[in-house]
Amino acid sequence: MDKLTFTPLGSGQEVGRSCHVLSFRGTTIMLDVGIHPGYQGEEQLPFFDHVNPADIDVLLVTHFHLDHAGALPYFTERTGFKGRIFMTHPTRAVIRLLLFDYLRLMEIQSQSQSQNKANGGENDNSSSKSPQNSVLYTEQELKSCIEKIELIDFHSVVTVGPIKFWAYNAGHVLGACLFMIEIADRHVLYTGDYSMEDDRHLMAAEIPKISPDVLICEGTYGTQVHPSREERETLFTESIGDVVRGGGRMLIPTFALGRAQELLLILDEYWQANPDLHDVPIYYASKMAGKALRVYQTYINMMNQRIRLQMDVSNPFQFQFIRNLKSINVQDFDDSGPSVVFASPGMLQSGVSRRLFDRWCTDPKNGVIIAGYGEYERSETKRTACPRFSCERNVLISHTQAKLSITPLPRIWLKNPTRFSLSRGSSSLCGAP
Ligand SMILES: [Zn+2]
Repeated sequence: MDKLTFTPLGSGQEVGRSCHVLSFRGTTIMLDVGIHPGYQGEEQLPFFDHVNPADIDVLLVTHFHLDHAGALPYFTERTGFKGRIFMTHPTRAVIRLLLFDYLRLMEIQSQSQSQNKANGGENDNSSSKSPQNSVLYTEQELKSCIEKIELIDFHSVVTVGPIKFWAYNAGHVLGACLFMIEIADRHVLYTGDYSMEDDRHLMAAEIPKISPDVLICEGTYGTQVHPSREERETLFTESIGDVVRGGGRMLIPTFALGRAQELLLILDEYWQANPDLHDVPIYYASKMAGKALRVYQTYINMMNQRIRLQMDVSNPFQFQFIRNLKSINVQDFDDSGPSVVFASPGMLQSGVSRRLFDRWCTDPKNGVIIAGYGEYERSETKRTACPRFSCERNVLISHTQAKLSITPLPRIWLKNPTRFSLSRGSSSLCGAP
């Protein structure tokens, strides 16, 4: 009997490193290839040793987030993988920038680990990993990997051997897609992360007309009901307003692309509506600030009607109150009054966001919003910094709220599935769809 096998190599009962393998009649497809943001070095990787990379025919990447795409250069350049890689145009444009930024972060972490070891290892929490192992790919490997990516348009059918697949818009982040895979007249739908409502710039996920035989569905907090987008935005903007009106500084650690653009749109609009805040600077500190802006401007035709209508008046990504900075020199940073700073990395492991956090965290007037994805419970911030964080006004937007765009699939998708699978989350979630 023909048998379809599904093997999660990560994210089965955890949040992070989404990576799954589907096999049917000798064809093998990998779905996403993420890292676990709560670990470092090779510990972040999916469990690749459960498969032979040389057997993978096709690798489909749903979107640019590191927990879905961060292990891509490692997998294509350092294993025996020889298959084809597909993703949408904006996903590749952003992945190129994001993975370059992530490489720089890994190099900084590796250097600081080496220094710690040289200083006797007092603050070294990197277990026995060597610094070389903590950097998952080189710049050359990243370039080589990016060149191998093949691009797909939404709805265009691609045939590779006995399988066909095509992509639907998933909302969530720029370029994100759901994949429908047709194997021997059966349909498998793999969602990745998706959003069922419009956000500031993106449309909601499309509902495929074909009812899949097998649904592999993102299930992070899939059984919880989240506050509305309006409530979340109000919590975000008012928390920032409270801190800066009280004379404090608000730090928003975030990766330079993705969530940052959504939050910048919200905050710029809030500043426009509140003239008393106009003198309070908002800094978007990223080496990639300019490049990120150009990528978002390039793909404005793929965004929702609200953004396209705004384009008729002025470019919504040409922010009125946000100052793009290539970087912040934390020592020289003019820090005399209230401000809002977006700085990477998103989980405060090191770099500008961490240095600002260390500088500001003892003043109760200041605040921090953890808005990035990742598993806060495992983050280094929680382990090492939070005991020293005495700020009364701190606001934590955790994974739940940062990913609030994820809501349970509407029933229409579940019409006749012969199998139903939730990826991520606890076993109790997975077992009770
Ligand atoms: Zn995502």
